[in-house]
Order: sequence, then C-alpha cells, then structure tokens
Amino acid sequence: MFISRVDECDAVSVDLLSLQQTVKGEECYTFFECPVCKKLYRNLPIYQCQSGHSICNTCKPRLEKCPTCRAPFGMTRNYSLEGLTAGVSYPCIYHDLGCMMSLSPAEISRHEAVCPYKPYNCPLPQCTMSGSHDIITNHLQEFHSDHVVVSDSHGYAESFRLEQHSLYNHIFDRKVLLAFDHIFRLTCKRVSDYCMWAAEAIGVQSELKNFVYEVSIIDVRRPEKRLIRTDYCLNEMPEEDLFKKCIMFPNSILSSYSSHGMVSYHFKIKKGV
Ligand SMILES: [Zn+2]
Ligand SMILES: [Zn+2]
Ligand SMILES: [Zn+2]
Ligand SMILES: [Zn+2]
Repeated sequence: MFISRVDECDAVSVDLLSLQQTVKGEECYTFFECPVCKKLYRNLPIYQCQSGHSICNTCKPRLEKCPTCRAPFGMTRNYSLEGLTAGVSYPCIYHDLGCMMSLSPAEISRHEAVCPYKPYNCPLPQCTMSGSHDIITNHLQEFHSDHVVVSDSHGYAESFRLEQHSLYNHIFDRKVLLAFDHIFRLTCKRVSDYCMWAAEAIGVQSELKNFVYEVSIIDVRRPEKRLIRTDYCLNEMPEEDLFKKCIMFPNSILSSYSSHGMVSYHFKIKKGV
C-alpha cells in the first residue's frame, strides 16, 4: 500500500509523503525522521547511540548524549537505515507551499534549487518580505515603485533597455526590473578604480542561461563611439560576491567617455540564444 512509484529500472520506491498520510504509515514515517530536529534523514551518515536510537549528522555533533536514553553516542552508524533512505522518495521542502514533487535524496536537492514554489525574497535591501513570484512582483510595485521598472512588453520583448545618465563621480544605482515574467536586480556601482554593472535573476535559477545582459557606455558627443560588454545574468548573491563576477570597466577608460561629468550607458537585458 505504500508503494507509489516504480521507476524505469523496476526498483520500488517508497514515497514518504504518502506513507505519512496513512494511519499505519505515520509511525513508519517517524523512523525516517531525526528525533531531535524532526527533519527527514536525507544526508548520510546516520548515527545511532549504544542502544540503537538514530540521529542525523547535523544534530549529533551538538549533543553529548542520546536525548532518548542518555547513552553516549559513538561513531556507530545505522547502515540499515542509511540503505533504506536510498530507496525512498523525499517530499520537496516546499511541500507546504504547494509543491507535490517527491524524488530520491539526490534528485530532490537538485529540484529544490529550481522549485517553482520556492519563496522569493524581496530583492531590495532592508526589506524582509518573502513569498511566491506573484506576491513579490505585486509587493515590489506597491511598496518600492521608485526602484521598479516594468518592461512595457512584459514577457514578450526580445530585449529591454534602461537608459540612465549618472554622475561619473557618484555612479550608483540599484533597480528592479520586471521583464519576461522574471525579476531582475540591476546594480551599478563605482568601486575604487572600476565601475561595475551586474544583473541578477532573482529566485528560480533553472532558466538563467536564457538571459544575458549588456552594458554599453556611450560617448554622447560621438554616439557611434561605444564600449559594449555582454554576459550571462547572474544568480542572486551577496553584493561582495557579485562584483567578482559582473561586467566592469576601469574608470580611466570611462573618463574618456564622460561629458560634463556625466557618463551615459545603456543597460539591456535580453533573451539569450
Ligand atoms: Zn537532527
Ligand atoms: Zn539512545
Ligand atoms: Zn518543489
Ligand atoms: Zn520589499
């Protein structure tokens, strides 16, 4: 009754979620759950105390004695349980948000990185809002409209262009772009001898390679003189990491494009090939 998935190689897999939903199965489900953190055993090794109570490898280093029987933990592993976890389908950690995916431990970790139910964090600093893609999209337009740019042909445009004239000496800008049904965070900043431009795709990472961003520095006196760089959009990451990976131009070169203390640039996001 607990067999819910038979994969291509005829191996039988037990779905922990359907196990939990049956009266008899619920007790069985608890054997796959660490008694301390109540999380399912997904990563090996699984340890056990001298009396045989199991514990996950995150909780074990934090405890001197078994919380169930007070016996000390050694390095004894529960190989039977470890073996069983390989044949079990684990629910996605976003199950409570609506995801019904259930896969092997290795597969479910890969899925969770791109799960469409994974909550998004508001991409603007000092805001702790999180929620689904739609909730965050609405939140951005309602509460951060000063920083939000909505592409006019939402989701259909081949490219999007944000034109910005910034003071060369104070170049800094952070905007959120809603385009192609995605949320992008655009950052432009001067860091010592360089100016840097970054475009991060917020949230789901599966289609990242489909988007590229292009920065063009324009000499307004001679519009045909342009400096153009293109790169793939980046994953969402902390600002200090971002600037190791994004498009950069040395200030010495930018200064030759500036006019009356201004540098003009185009920031464009388009679908990759
Ligand atoms: Zn644990
Ligand atoms: Zn014990
Ligand atoms: Zn999921
Ligand atoms: Zn916010």
